[in-house]
Parts: sequence; structure tokens; C-alpha cells
Amino acid sequence: MIHTHCKGCGKEFKRKSGRKTGYCQPCYMRDVHHDRAEVREGLSRAMKAKLADPHERAAHIARTRRGRIERLARDPEFREMVRQQGKAVGALGLGGHQPKGSPSRIAAGKAVTATKLADIPLEYRELHKKLRKEFGATESRRMIRQQMAADEARMSAHERQLRAISRGAKIVKKFKPSADTGPFTLGGIATGMI
Ligand SMILES: [Zn+2]
Repeated sequence: MIHTHCKGCGKEFKRKSGRKTGYCQPCYMRDVHHDRAEVREGLSRAMKAKLADPHERAAHIARTRRGRIERLARDPEFREMVRQQGKAVGALGLGGHQPKGSPSRIAAGKAVTATKLADIPLEYRELHKKLRKEFGATESRRMIRQQMAADEARMSAHERQLRAISRGAKIVKKFKPSADTGPFTLGGIATGMI
């Protein structure tokens, strides 16, 4: 955080080191420059690029969720607005009364899981479940990244190949194992290794 004066309203504000506009947040959001289509497009593109990274995305979701919870705690007007919105959405009755265990609830649960865990390979999700209970999601993700790096380092070329195939890689050229596994191949994989 850097103390500086806003170019717009002149008030002193603490700017994040990444913010270089010289305007405080309210002035920046009001600024005509922010209303220009190409500027909005640029911002949108930059945000999408950032959120394409699963770790950035997880951090962003955690940050905004935290911000929302904090605002709900300290801002009664905001709390009331959210309550009214919730009531309005509830009144639409869009699938809100599906019983627990119904197919649509199960499908929705799976979709949520897939989105939340998109950055964790399938084979690490059970581990994540256990670690998350004990250490929380952020720490679990960090531990899993370490575990993945360790597993990767320990894996033989053959295991790496099989893993790539199990994740949907196409076999495009002959796999050359470091050990002699015999002269026969099946779709590029030495049969001695299957
Ligand atoms: Zn300002």
C-alpha cells in the first residue's frame, strides 16, 4: 500500500502497488475513461485471461467471497438488499424444491464439484477431500501441488505416458522407452510394458 493523492478528488488514499491510474477507486469507477467501450473490453479481456488460470481463479473467488461476507457483517443496507434479492429469486420457484438425493440435485452437486475442483486432477481429489477437512482448501491445494510435483519427479517416462493417455492424450508418434522392452508395439506402446 502506498499513500498518495487522487488526481480526481484530491483526497489522500492508499493505493495498491499494482494500481497506476492515480485515481481513487470511486473516482476511477466514475471516470469517463472507464465508460469507453474499448476500455471496458480491455478490462474484460484482462480479467478473463487472469481467471483462465485455475489458481488465480480460486484466489479470486476466495477473495470476493471473503469481501462479501465482511460487507454482509458490517453493512446493514447491503444485508437487507441481499435478503430482498434472495426472496425475489426464491419467489421464482426455479427448481428450489428438489428433494435431497433427487437426480437434479445430484447432477447439480456434481457440476459444482467439477467447477470447484477443476484445477485438481481426478486422482488427487480424494486426497484433497481429506486434506481440506484438516487444513482448509487453500493449504490443501498447496500441499497437493507439492505432492503432484513430487509424483511427477518420481514417475518414469512410461508412467508419464500412461497418465497422459488416461487424461485423453492422443498417441501421435512411437514412444521410445529408455529400457529395451522388446520389438512389438501396439499403437505405439511397447506391448512388453502393458
Ligand atoms: Zn478520488
